[in-house]
Amino acid sequence: MSIATSLGFPRIGRRRELKSALEAHWAGELSEAGLQEAARLLRAESHSLQQGLGIGHIPSNDFALYDHVLDTACMVGAIPPGYGWRGGEVTLPTYFALARGTGGGDAAAGLPALEMTKWFDTNYHYLVPRLAAGQHFAVTANRPLALFREALARHRRTRPVVLGPVSFLLLAKTDDGSDPLDLLDRLLPCYAQVLAELAAEGCAWVQMDEPVLALDLAPKARAALRHAYETLARGATPRLLLASYFAPIADNLPTALALPVAGLHLDLVRGRDDLAPVLAAIGPATWLSLGLVDGRNVWRADLRAALATAREAARALGGSERLMIAPSCSLLHVPVDLAQEDRLDPAIRPWLAFATQKLAEVATIARGLDEGEGAIAEALEVSDAALRTRRDSARVHRTDVAARLLGATPEMERRPAPHAARRARQRQRLPLPAFPTTTIGSLPQTSGVRRTRAALARGEIGAVEYDEAIATWTEDAIRLQERIGLDVLVHGEFERNDMVKYFGEQLDGFAFTRHGWVQSYGSRCVAPPIIWGDVARPRPMTVRWARHAQSLTARPVKGMLTGPVTMLQWSFVRDDLPRETVCRQIALALRDEVADLEAAGLAIIQVDEPAFREGLPLRTADREAYLRWALSCFRLATAVVRDDTAIHTHMCYAEFQDIMPAIATMDADAISIETARSRMELLEAFAGHGPSAYPAEIGPGVWDIHSPRIPPEEEILALLRLARRKLADDQLWVNPDCGLKTRNWREVIPALENLVGAARRLRAEA
Ligand code: GLN
Ligand code: ZN
Repeated sequence: MSIATSLGFPRIGRRRELKSALEAHWAGELSEAGLQEAARLLRAESHSLQQGLGIGHIPSNDFALYDHVLDTACMVGAIPPGYGWRGGEVTLPTYFALARGTGGGDAAAGLPALEMTKWFDTNYHYLVPRLAAGQHFAVTANRPLALFREALARHRRTRPVVLGPVSFLLLAKTDDGSDPLDLLDRLLPCYAQVLAELAAEGCAWVQMDEPVLALDLAPKARAALRHAYETLARGATPRLLLASYFAPIADNLPTALALPVAGLHLDLVRGRDDLAPVLAAIGPATWLSLGLVDGRNVWRADLRAALATAREAARALGGSERLMIAPSCSLLHVPVDLAQEDRLDPAIRPWLAFATQKLAEVATIARGLDEGEGAIAEALEVSDAALRTRRDSARVHRTDVAARLLGATPEMERRPAPHAARRARQRQRLPLPAFPTTTIGSLPQTSGVRRTRAALARGEIGAVEYDEAIATWTEDAIRLQERIGLDVLVHGEFERNDMVKYFGEQLDGFAFTRHGWVQSYGSRCVAPPIIWGDVARPRPMTVRWARHAQSLTARPVKGMLTGPVTMLQWSFVRDDLPRETVCRQIALALRDEVADLEAAGLAIIQVDEPAFREGLPLRTADREAYLRWALSCFRLATAVVRDDTAIHTHMCYAEFQDIMPAIATMDADAISIETARSRMELLEAFAGHGPSAYPAEIGPGVWDIHSPRIPPEEEILALLRLARRKLADDQLWVNPDCGLKTRNWREVIPALENLVGAARRLRAEA
């Protein structure tokens, strides 16, 4: 008999109950006890749901009030000084201070939050543990044990999930830049203690997550894994299921297979090639957990294919006794329940599976393996039918889109002249002062803007009234930018709810959910669109507002689009085509929009790619291929314009060093980046002479828009002077770090006045 398992379930609840509880608590409206009770309820509900679906190994400790990496840091007492921790269990105020910082409105006054960064290649963000060089570790509270007991009290024997010691250290940073792995021997006693206490409580299995196995590992990290698990195996411990996911284990397989653990989990969606070598080499008593159901995407599984893979494994292992059937990774990365989506296109719905449906699939595969195909005949038929209708759908596979893609030539990705020649023509068409000033696109989305959009959604106002309001805000924004004296204006993006959704709603091939929320960090959730079919643009998307804005002023207005890679990256993407192909479809749709904006008279068109870098694959060997197609898509979308029309792009949240030559290959005429907080350090990648330098224009951000603080003119000027040391004068633009939609006008007006003032003073100096 195989075991149906789950590696982790979404924490936020069906209706984002965790978000509501957290935010109520932070607002002082829900007590600590109230918050803990809400969390307990969510855990109990998720456990009973999973049990009802037929899951044998139900995970515990997969829940976190804010983040599981932070929970792990708190468990082992890795708490930097200053957060009010005096040993013992970490209190909730300390926990949230680490997660969010303190200091109310003025960020400068309080404690900063721990740094936050992306969890591997997902859109989940974890808090980076901050360790000291001689860090002391001690178990503050055995949370896995507490949650195991909590479930046991409801008669459920769960499988605690613990972030493994090596991954924990590799995800952490030290104060002095020393190697966190050097702290392993100090850390291991904590893990040994946690495991021994769980074993004493009768816990049979612990899922030890070591997702770093999916990364390129240095010999030292591999040795650390060996050392860690050999040490832990010497003590009392439940059986350990070592879990890795998100990419093949590949060259780390010899290391993984040699570890003294009771079982190994494989992500067979992303790492199908791991299966054969593992089946050939796995020890005679080792369990294998087959991650057959995609935990990163929303598509229904191909049950027949999954069952065949499970049988292949059973044959090799001489039966299913040592097999677990599982999702490929934790279901944290998909929405909770498709059953809540009552407004999805009925043609698309049967093709989808969210976390709840995915666990049902897992249980079905396990049953098919143990009892034979006949036992799950009905489910197999439903799965076959979904695959068939998806494959045969003329809405999914459009001949017009396929023909267009086939007809796309490499010439379409090339601008006629090189940047230097284009620049001369662009300046002829559009004379601008030295150090031209502009913004990144969005202006404050005030409560008035949001209320009006909500009223439209509820049907309280009509489209005409809504459009009138947008037109008025746009006009006011143009007047204001003229008065402040900006050189290149924006329309303000008042009509946009979100930079992907706004476009997706106007394109064929995209669907949107009502409750398809996925945790991004803490209480913050996103509801990514679902790209289910061939993408095409039935009609222009932004031309109307761009033309309206340009008609109001003699100054140039920038057209404003979201780029193809970002649209792809922030969506659930269909799995029946390579990502690259989907991206090219989006690029072609955007190409038409770019051409239409040019025809409407816009001399500058900005194509935002903030998610360009986060698409980088986990393994270095895969990066080049990604960069090749991602760049090609950006150019396909933009290279349609004449030489005297300027293409701008914008990227935030990025380290540029490792993608620098690629950024130049985008062949944009200007790029704006986020540099205020790093005091122009990030600009380093663009500087220098010779072939490595960035050839086009650059707007290094001079205002950190994540903070409510208004930067004084003097400070902006100082940043600009720093930038002038790294770049040529005729390369330099003056702009904020990013869009201003989350700021309010009281901050935006004086900050932009200071920005324009600083640019004027710089012109006088130059
Ligand atoms: N143009 C967008 C804005 O200003 C860019 C947002 C982003 O980079 N995330 O909001
Ligand atoms: Zn940005």
